Amino acid sequence: MILESDRIAELAVLWEDLPPQEIVEAALDLFQDRITVASSFGLEDVALIHMACRAAKGTVDVFCLDTEVLFPETYTLMQRFSETYPIRLRRIVPQLTIAQQGERYGERLWAREPDLCCKLRKVEPLERALHGYDAWVTGLRRAQGPTRQGAKAIDHDGRHGLCKVNPLVRWSDEELWAYVRSEEVPYNPLHEQGYPSIGCVHCTRAVAPSEDPRAGRWAGFAKTECGLHL
Ligand code: SF4
Repeated sequence: MILESDRIAELAVLWEDLPPQEIVEAALDLFQDRITVASSFGLEDVALIHMACRAAKGTVDVFCLDTEVLFPETYTLMQRFSETYPIRLRRIVPQLTIAQQGERYGERLWAREPDLCCKLRKVEPLERALHGYDAWVTGLRRAQGPTRQGAKAIDHDGRHGLCKVNPLVRWSDEELWAYVRSEEVPYNPLHEQGYPSIGCVHCTRAVAPSEDPRAGRWAGFAKTECGLHL
């Protein structure tokens, strides 16, 4: 069910003050089997999967954009969720392997043209991942930085022609950690080694406590977003 813009705006106001768990529940009720949860298995994503599995009546549809250069810890966590949570995990891979990308565009594209690399390995695969759905759930939070401050609990995703649900939009880092710890949700051990935000191996470094949490992504480039949420 594709919602009209007026209805989306109305829901954004209604959902603004709801706890994330209730937003997840309302979204699953509303979109039924036409909604999918985006997961890179970061802290927000594991919390969302946990909430969705608790709220859903059946299996939760989850997808991961597997760039094929994620951290080993991320792959281990993904496997753990597949085995222990009632999810249907779709691993969406790029059309080109890393070797094919190297042959076509040159080696280490991420170090020269990260926008193009993200386009090939994340942005295009996202379009495939969302095809046929009416809504997707993401872990966007306003506290993640200036580029995310305008995020709403539900919004129209004009680029992909569906709704985008952001249940954690109002949560602080502390609230997110408190949920994950109190519910004993499995999480990536890299979060405790200076990686608040975890992407591909080549484009993620640890950050100091005083740094912006997203400073460890594409360090050395002005880039702060992979293009999935623009
Ligand atoms: S984060 Fe880096 S390696 Fe991953 S797709 Fe983007 S540029 Fe490529």
